[in-house]
Amino acid sequence: MITQGSPLVKCRYCPAHAVWATYEQTSRRTLVDPLPTVNGNIELTRKTGTALIARVVPVKERGQHTELYLSHFVSCPGRDKARSASSRQTMRRTGR
Ligand SMILES: [Zn+2]
Repeated sequence: MITQGSPLVKCRYCPAHAVWATYEQTSRRTLVDPLPTVNGNIELTRKTGTALIARVVPVKERGQHTELYLSHFVSCPGRDKARSASSRQTMRRTGR
């Protein structure tokens, strides 16, 4: 699993642990469940260092991927809180 080697972080909104990844299209960070799942829609790749890059895979391509992940906020029981917090964070740029 590509998530091995990335630090597990505890979700701020529930007891689960997840890993950070950055959407390649938007540069926004998201928490991703560390285990691949059959209904996942996110392909993770690692470029340099420990940063994971997330790409949302179009439905028609999903059959070609064996390891797809799901955003933790899809299943997080505290996702309503998480969503309002992340919309506040969009003003803050991450990375360089
Ligand atoms: Zn959570």
